[in-house]
Amino acid sequence: MIEALEFLDHDFPWMLPAFAFVFGTIVGSFLNVCIYRIPAGRSVVFPGSTCSCGEPIPFYHNIPVLSWCILRGRAHCCDQKFSVRYPAIEFLTGVLFAVCWLQHTPVVAILGMLFVAFLICATFIDFDHMIIPDRFSIGGMVIGVLLSFAFPVLHAIEAPLPIAEHIESGVMGIVGAIVGAGLVYWISVLGEVAFRKPAMGEGDVKFVGFIGAFCGWQGAVFAMFGGALIGSVVLLPLLMVQRLRGGGEGEQVEEALPESSDCDGEADEFYPAPGQVPFGPMLAVAGLIYFLGFSKYVDAYFNEFTEFFIGY
Ligand SMILES: [Zn+2]
Repeated sequence: MIEALEFLDHDFPWMLPAFAFVFGTIVGSFLNVCIYRIPAGRSVVFPGSTCSCGEPIPFYHNIPVLSWCILRGRAHCCDQKFSVRYPAIEFLTGVLFAVCWLQHTPVVAILGMLFVAFLICATFIDFDHMIIPDRFSIGGMVIGVLLSFAFPVLHAIEAPLPIAEHIESGVMGIVGAIVGAGLVYWISVLGEVAFRKPAMGEGDVKFVGFIGAFCGWQGAVFAMFGGALIGSVVLLPLLMVQRLRGGGEGEQVEEALPESSDCDGEADEFYPAPGQVPFGPMLAVAGLIYFLGFSKYVDAYFNEFTEFFIGY
């Protein structure tokens, strides 16, 4: 089996990454279902894919990415428009799975695909609902720790005794989860004291714990600070434009929220305040950057750092 794969990889180097891409688009199609149904508390297995008009979607109109392009973004049954987000998530999952395959050894790549799938679900649910369901954050953390125990290659552990490898790797997963969640927890507490409003939610605390379980404490620390950096690069221009156009509208909306909660005419003011931007997607992007190639630089940096301070 392995020999056959090695032969394939040697003679047709594009073939396995292409498989990973196609596999990713199929998984992405399932992730679309999860993103849509899990927050609504519906089963992700039953019923099968249905159009919003109620018609079931046959499998030949449900081919990832392609069907959307062939049907030009419209439903075959009722001509309703389908969001471009569906094929985009399928395509994104495909690309990330292929990168996973190219960047890692086969076992780590397959574990990484699970990590990527969780990140994508959590990201888009956070965009839509400003929450990260526990089954992704806590569930992912538990799975990450268990996989760390089972597969020492996940944390690149090599020890003379096999049992020592498993224990060391499992401890790496646990430490990653605790450091990640702890760091974000304390930053959110300090942020609340300093700015008198919650900067990050409980969901973000658990989410970085999940990233740490898969990537170790270095990955969790990078996700936190990398996410904050990405957040400021993306958000500062947006907030400035909002300021210039609306002249500080943000504060009014925030003040208006508590009083207007039972007024009929002011339902329009229930936009999330401009300060409320989901932090999960930025954490996820930073976690991906770490996992899909940046880890060697980050780990080398942290090693120098610890050598300097602790001297070993
Ligand atoms: Zn329809």
